[in-house]
Amino acid sequence: MSFIHYRIIPKNPQAHLFQVTLTILEPAPEGQCLSLPAWIPGSYLIRDFAKHVVQLRAESQGHPLPVEKLSKSLWQCAPSGGPVTINYEVYAWDSSVRAAHLDTFHGFFNGTSVFLRVEGQAHEPCTVTLLPPEGETYRHWRVATALPRAGAEPYGFGDYQAGDYEELVDHPVEMGEFSLVTFEACGVPHDIAITGRHRADMERLSRDLKILCEHHIRFFGEPAPMDRYVFLVTAVGEGYGGLEHRASCALLCNRSDLPQAGETEVGEGYRNFLGLCSHEYFHTWNIKRIKPAAFVPYDLQQENYTRLLWAFEGITSYYDDLGLVRSGLISQESYLELLGQTITRVLRGSGRLKQNLAESSFDAWTKFYQQDENAPNAIVSYYTKGALVALALDLTLRWETHGECSLDGVMRALWESYGKTGVGVPEDGVERQVAEVSGLNITDFFEVALRRAEDLPLQALLAQVGICYALRVPESSDDKGGKPGKGGTPRARLGIRLVPNEKEARISQVFDESAAQWAGLSAGDSLIAVDGIRVTASNLEKVISSYPGGARVIIHAFRRDELREFEAALQLPPKDTCVLTIDEDASPTAVVARESWLKGSA
Ligand SMILES: [Zn+2]
Repeated sequence: MSFIHYRIIPKNPQAHLFQVTLTILEPAPEGQCLSLPAWIPGSYLIRDFAKHVVQLRAESQGHPLPVEKLSKSLWQCAPSGGPVTINYEVYAWDSSVRAAHLDTFHGFFNGTSVFLRVEGQAHEPCTVTLLPPEGETYRHWRVATALPRAGAEPYGFGDYQAGDYEELVDHPVEMGEFSLVTFEACGVPHDIAITGRHRADMERLSRDLKILCEHHIRFFGEPAPMDRYVFLVTAVGEGYGGLEHRASCALLCNRSDLPQAGETEVGEGYRNFLGLCSHEYFHTWNIKRIKPAAFVPYDLQQENYTRLLWAFEGITSYYDDLGLVRSGLISQESYLELLGQTITRVLRGSGRLKQNLAESSFDAWTKFYQQDENAPNAIVSYYTKGALVALALDLTLRWETHGECSLDGVMRALWESYGKTGVGVPEDGVERQVAEVSGLNITDFFEVALRRAEDLPLQALLAQVGICYALRVPESSDDKGGKPGKGGTPRARLGIRLVPNEKEARISQVFDESAAQWAGLSAGDSLIAVDGIRVTASNLEKVISSYPGGARVIIHAFRRDELREFEAALQLPPKDTCVLTIDEDASPTAVVARESWLKGSA
């Protein structure tokens, strides 16, 4: 047995309780301190996982050992003359990819939710014994994880190991009766384990993910940095999310987004799922190994501030969809539709003109991850705007160097300088690497892109690669852009978003400078009638859009429980919906540049 050993068992699946036993052979003589992370890398919000710890007890040499709580996430055992054993339960009923979940159908956990860190010995290797719940019901349960085995059979319960605490908590574990398919990408074994009811075409999924994974491995250069990889997928009716790890990712998706038997097309749903896989897989390099210096090492007790999240989430968001077209999984037209949708999402938030990308990254903890009803008016996403900065940077480098240099080359250089060495990227490291690789003075580009809240010159940049950029008005509230409109007269609107899946027309967001804001309507208001006609969530848009732009209407709404009257001057929607198309009249130079960009050569 190693000096640090964890044993974890789903002790009571009905009550969602894991039981963990931690044995420390050589505890600190002054009294061993133990902590649980306050956040999980990849999701920048203080979550205080220790709040789910129940009944923590310690003993040494057969006697109970007093434990004192020093802070919300920190405990200290009394001094002991020998090994210490700590016993505790963890309540696991979080269905996201960020914590832990346990019921009678499956168990899932991230180490950050269940494994106490042995302070002062976090760099030591440790072993883990994974046990199934007791009882016949669970005899078919298996294990899916990238945690290295130390005696356990493949997909079996038993002994596993990790080189240190940071590795231990970077391999989430799924247990249950999942579907499993395996493939090799550039010689590395990959598993896809799907939990939840679904009828996915597993063979097609493994064929497509093999193509995608090989594309990303070759992008950074063989060999791949991991010796195995696991996609841990949970399929649900309605859900979306992903979290990256060094040799796996945890994904939450709609079961309808998985490819169904008999289908051969890549529809919108499956394209979404492939984009999610592509995103998390690209992170295997960009954030799990090329890391901001602020994360080397992670301080899991408090916020770790960096102005670079745009480079890790934004650049990854750029390459996730680009990887789909470059690997041939989707067409160029389909890719341009996705890019048009990203541009549309950015253009629809006036917060993009108030918060810059460096600020958006730095304040992720309290703003992006804690969005309130005013978020679209106050902040910009380092994912979507970050992806557009990556696009603008890539196209600028290609143009200025006549195709000699691109963002691809910068990413490979970052991999060499930081990913392979484990050195953290300093706050100015990405900008310096771009200058070094391209030989260009690119200071002005970054000044505008990162430190000013301004729109990027995407129309001009895309023209250089033979892509036409056009803006039109949205045709309905669910028009995401990316596709040409059907035409017709623009429809009047209030400039609000409603709380989804409610019968009542209750406002969730009011956009800046909109008719609703001028009228004094606010988030939380329930709209009752427009010009004396009853409105609900299902007919509000139709009623409002029947008026011409500029029409004045009387709106009755409940603010809390008080009926109020508002007068609104309806507006026509702005042209904030982007459509990108291939320019059939592009110059031969532009056509060459476009092919090089979309096929990935530079
Ligand atoms: Zn990401």
